[in-house]
Amino acid sequence: MKTTVVWFHNDLRLSDNPALYYAAQRGAVVPVYIYAPEEQGARAPGEARKWWLHHSLQALDQSLQEWGLRLTIRRASQSLPVLEQILTETGADALYWNTRYEPQRWARDEQIRKTFQQRGIEVREFPCYLLHDPNAVRTDAGQPYTVFTPFWKRMLQVVDVPEPLSDPETLRAPERLPASEPLESLQLLPKIDWAAGFRETWQVGEAAAHRRLDWFLRHAVEEYHALRDRPDLDATSRLSPHLHHGEITPRQIWHATLRHSNGKWTKGVEHFLREVGWREFGYHILYHHPYTQERALRSEFDTFPWTEVKTPAFKAWTKGRTGIPMVDAGMRQLWRIGWMHNRVRMIVASWLTKNLLIHWRLGEAWFWDTLVDADPASNVLGWQWTSGCGADAAPYFRIFNPVIQGRKFDPDGVYVRQWVPELANLPTEYLHAPWEAPERVLKQAGVELGKTYPFPQEPIDKSRDRALEMLEQWTKQRAP
Ligand SMILES: Cc1cc2nc3c(=O)[nH]c(=O)nc-3n(C[C@H](O)[C@H](O)[C@H](O)COP(=O)(O)OP(=O)(O)OC[C@H]3O[C@@H](n4cnc5c(N)ncnc54)[C@H](O)[C@@H]3O)c2cc1C
Repeated sequence: MKTTVVWFHNDLRLSDNPALYYAAQRGAVVPVYIYAPEEQGARAPGEARKWWLHHSLQALDQSLQEWGLRLTIRRASQSLPVLEQILTETGADALYWNTRYEPQRWARDEQIRKTFQQRGIEVREFPCYLLHDPNAVRTDAGQPYTVFTPFWKRMLQVVDVPEPLSDPETLRAPERLPASEPLESLQLLPKIDWAAGFRETWQVGEAAAHRRLDWFLRHAVEEYHALRDRPDLDATSRLSPHLHHGEITPRQIWHATLRHSNGKWTKGVEHFLREVGWREFGYHILYHHPYTQERALRSEFDTFPWTEVKTPAFKAWTKGRTGIPMVDAGMRQLWRIGWMHNRVRMIVASWLTKNLLIHWRLGEAWFWDTLVDADPASNVLGWQWTSGCGADAAPYFRIFNPVIQGRKFDPDGVYVRQWVPELANLPTEYLHAPWEAPERVLKQAGVELGKTYPFPQEPIDKSRDRALEMLEQWTKQRAP
């Protein structure tokens, strides 16, 4: 019987998994996951994603066991020797994987492909992480896009999103399954258990991803366009960590959404699929401009005088102790559950890069470590967009006012009260700006600024003016 090694990465699922599907059609399957963070360098999973990865691998292994298989797990500094060993041990004559788009993997995957092809092993790769092939969507002049709306319009014209594949009809184990290391040996779970909030919030794995999609389609998609900016409501899909780890594919989401609406692009459906389109756009940018992982897409911003050291203000931001309720609520939500609402991601990123003038890279790195959905394309896109130096970016002079944003998008203060409980008893009119509350009101609410809750680390208007002045000076200096 022919045997194929299926090399898993960010595709931790059985359904709509082309590498697994076509391997199963050939004969026996050896599912393998190699944890080699050294190969990913600075883009190795951060702490929050390691937690997710542990549970996702566990879920995948359980699903495979239902078929009499199991996941072969290995810890290594390099994948190639492990794959060589597994192919030899099992007598496999083919190696399949699903295409990965992280630049760190391109050269290595190419080397692995060549090495095995030279030895007569059949090597195949299958696209499914994205809806679009980053080479296929181009401007009329043949260039990649750097602005979202024209990218999206073109993508809709040229990409026919394929129907997802079903589960493999059957999965057969080879005569010899290779030895596996225990999942625990990867040491993905934290030594000091900070993950209680993660456990309470998330159900990890393929089945959970589909349950969440079903819930979202039944209860939230039709109002998505109206409510998606409200962090106080459960109004978005929360599929981002499932998508990042490949527990669900974008084309499964795409077709399930359109099936749900009987093919109609209602307002809710249109806005939702457009957001999935932003994920595509992020990978489009990363694919064509891999340097953006470290440097601004708009390279003139590489000279912008942002602070690059972890100042006390930066540390207060990470801890949700800035004294700005909307910023603190977001940063504490992030710390507690490893996820933050999109609107609040923009607010906290704007505060850091504009009001505090701290480099977007420091913020991006913090998110990288603390988000369960930390993604090399979407995180960089979000940070560069908010700080004004990336694709389709909000201009630098557009600075989010966290009080106005809070009053608009958390109108009853439910979000701030949940994540900043020391302010919970303040009347809503003062909740987003406690420093404006009369002493008597603060006292009644048990709030003592500077003691129970910090004063704002920077006055909002003054720090905004300072950022604008800095921009003006920097622009003048650059003028020829
Ligand atoms: C500073 C900053 C950092 C970010 N970092 C990440 C990150 O590391 N990983 C990540 O997945 N998203 C990131 N985003 C994008 C966005 O905030 C999240 O994708 C979204 O909040 C996830 O929640 P959801 O699944 O409920 O999204 P929904 O609103 O339900 O959207 C559906 C899906 O579309 C995609 N999507 C939605 N908005 C965006 C967007 N603006 N950019 C790219 N894709 C989007 C996601 O895959 C999401 O799961 C970032 C945004 C900002 C402003």
